[in-house]
Amino acid sequence: MNNVFRWARWVGVLVALAAFITGLCLPEAAQAAQADEHKLNYFQTSRVKIAGRNALRIEIGMTGGEPRYTVKTHSYLRQELVLELPNTQRGRVKSYIPMTNGLANQVRISEVGNSTQIAVELANPVTRDNYRISTLPAERRLKKPARIVLEIMEPSKDGAFSAGPGIKGKTIVVDAGHGGSDSGAVGPTGVMEKTVTLSVAKKVQNLLTQSGARVVMTRTRDVDVYAPNATGKQELQARCDVANRDSRTALFLSIHCNAFSSPSANGMETYYSAGSRNGQRFATLLNQELAKAGGLFNRGVKTANYYVLRHTNMPASLVELAFVTNYREEKLLRSEAYQNKLAAAIVRGIARYFQ
Ligand SMILES: [Zn+2]
Repeated sequence: MNNVFRWARWVGVLVALAAFITGLCLPEAAQAAQADEHKLNYFQTSRVKIAGRNALRIEIGMTGGEPRYTVKTHSYLRQELVLELPNTQRGRVKSYIPMTNGLANQVRISEVGNSTQIAVELANPVTRDNYRISTLPAERRLKKPARIVLEIMEPSKDGAFSAGPGIKGKTIVVDAGHGGSDSGAVGPTGVMEKTVTLSVAKKVQNLLTQSGARVVMTRTRDVDVYAPNATGKQELQARCDVANRDSRTALFLSIHCNAFSSPSANGMETYYSAGSRNGQRFATLLNQELAKAGGLFNRGVKTANYYVLRHTNMPASLVELAFVTNYREEKLLRSEAYQNKLAAAIVRGIARYFQ
């Protein structure tokens, strides 16, 4: 043992002694707080059913009396529930627990100052109705300590979806590109752009409405907005008019699919009008969410002189979901599940815009 280690050992002994003496001299309140300290010593997961819904039950046990906690739902965008346990140490519970149950992806446990944070990353957005937290006293017979019980339910069948409070009461105009006499681009197996844009637009409308937004659609059926076989300008101006005639309109979203002469062109991109800062922010958030959810090549956030972006009076973005002229992407675009994913991504982008 060299000198440095010998010194370190002596310093350690002195520190322990000082801590012991301080402990003896602590005022009563501080002593009580010390007695209330917890150490995690138990982590169990199980599958359960709650009101007919599949659920994941996580029990986290600790030494000491009844556990106390606060909850932060790290906004549904990050899909994370964070429990903060005051006067608690991580003890011998692992700091990272990966999960593959379809309801949670991982649990991370870390000490922050005097507390321990338990961050559970969910597989679905955190909504008020898909988790419950309770506590259980110690059960000596079962050798179980006092526990916090976190139950995470699968999303309810009625599709309840909440995009957070910011979206509530906002007027959002959703424009399904093309329609009626104008089919838009057509894919190799005949999928029409106007059909995809309307379907996705309706899904977006649905999710936004559930989140308390006021949604105005430029069209809800397979029709021209101005008139059949009108000029491009007439048709596009009619869509801008829907947005501009209501001064409450906070955002304008136009949904399209891309097309190119070569079937190999692929990917997603979002547009805004050059010089519009809010438009840029909106297009960027949409791009981030669509990239994450759709998994396509990200062609980026771009500016363009598109008519509907230039002639609307509020922040606006036009999204090109994918290339309908690309065989693989055409197949994705006509899939209901994929459309649902994209619609949810768009609504997440809109929710972030209002955060
Ligand atoms: Zn188009």
